[in-house]
Amino acid sequence: MQSLVVDDSAVYRKLIGDHLRSWDFGVILAESGSEAWRILEQPDAPKLVLLDWVLPDLDGIELCQRIRQVGSSGPYVYVILLTSKEGRHNMLEAMQAGADDYLAKPFDELELKARLLVGKRILDLQDELVSARESMRHAATHDSLTGLLNRGEILNMLQRELERARRDRKPVGVVLGDIDHFKNVNDSLGHLFGDEALREIGRRLRSQLRVYDGVGRYGGEEFLMVLPNCDLPTALSRANELRNIVANTPVFCSGAERPITMSMGVAVSDRDGKNEVEMLLNQADAGLYVAKEKGRNRTEHLTRTAKKTATGRARKS
Ligand code: GH3
Ligand code: MG
Ligand code: MG
Repeated sequence: MQSLVVDDSAVYRKLIGDHLRSWDFGVILAESGSEAWRILEQPDAPKLVLLDWVLPDLDGIELCQRIRQVGSSGPYVYVILLTSKEGRHNMLEAMQAGADDYLAKPFDELELKARLLVGKRILDLQDELVSARESMRHAATHDSLTGLLNRGEILNMLQRELERARRDRKPVGVVLGDIDHFKNVNDSLGHLFGDEALREIGRRLRSQLRVYDGVGRYGGEEFLMVLPNCDLPTALSRANELRNIVANTPVFCSGAERPITMSMGVAVSDRDGKNEVEMLLNQADAGLYVAKEKGRNRTEHLTRTAKKTATGRARKS
C-alpha cells in the first residue's frame, strides 16, 4: 500500500520512511503542506497519510480539513496526525479537523506499526465496500444471464441518446431482435442449451456493434439495440449485419449444434420529440411482427402509416 509522509524535518521523514518501507509500505515524501496537497490532488494518490501537525506553509490541521472537504468525491484518505504537541485537547482538535488517528512524537516503533495496521485495515474494508457497491450497481443495471444491459438500462440509454440526438440534430436507430422458434430450441435441446445460446447470441450482437452503440436484453429471447447517429438506410444495413452474425454460424454448446436465426424490426427517430421512446419501440415491434409473418430471419421497417395497421394485431413475444 502506498503512503504519504509529510514532515518538514528531514530526520523524521527518513525515520518514518525507513520504518514504512521495512513494513512493505510504498513511501512518498513531502516536506510541506502545499507539496503534500499537490500530491494528494493527483489521480491514484496515496490513501494513507502520515501528517506532521506543524508545517511551514499549510499546517497539518488545515490539510486535514481540505482532505475532508473534497473527500466525498474520491476514495477515503486515512490520516494519522503526528505531532510533538501532547495532551487530550490537541488530540480532539486533530480528530475534529478530520484526522483518523493521532500519534505524539517521539513515538515508539511498535506503536507506529500498530496505528498503520489499523489504517490499512480500514482502507481495505473501504475498498471492499466500494467493490460491493460497484457489483450491486452492475447487478441492478445488467442482465445476469448474458451480461448485457437489462431492459431498464437499455431503455434509459435510449432515452439519453434521444435527448442528445435532439440537441445534435442527429437520428437514433433502434433495432428490436427476437430469436426465431426459440421455444423449439429449448424443447429439442434443453433449457441449458437455450441459456448458452442466449449468451452466445448476446456476445455476437455486442461484437458487431460500435463502442457507443448499446445492446440490452429486452425480454426472454428479445434484444434491443440502440444505434446513435444512424439514419434509416444505415440502421437497416446494420440490422442485417446483426441478423447475419447470428444466422451465419450455428451455435455450438455441450456437444450440440443448432443453426439459430433472428428477426429484426427497425425504427429511426425523426426528432419530433414527444413520447419518442414509446413510439420508436412500437414501430420497431411492428416491423418485427411483419418480419415474423413474412417467414422470419429477416429485417423489416414499417413507416408510421403502415404501422397503424400492423400494431392493431397482437404479436406474441
Ligand atoms: P417466434 O419465432 O415466433 O419468436 O417463436 P419463439 O418460439 O421464439 O417464441 P415464443 O414466444 O413462443 O417462445 C419464446 C421462448 O423463449 C419461450 C421461452 O421458454 C424461451 N425463453 C425465454 N427466456 C429464456 C431464458 O432465459 N432461457 C431459455 N433457455 N429460454 C428462454
Ligand atoms: Mg422468438
Ligand atoms: Mg419473443
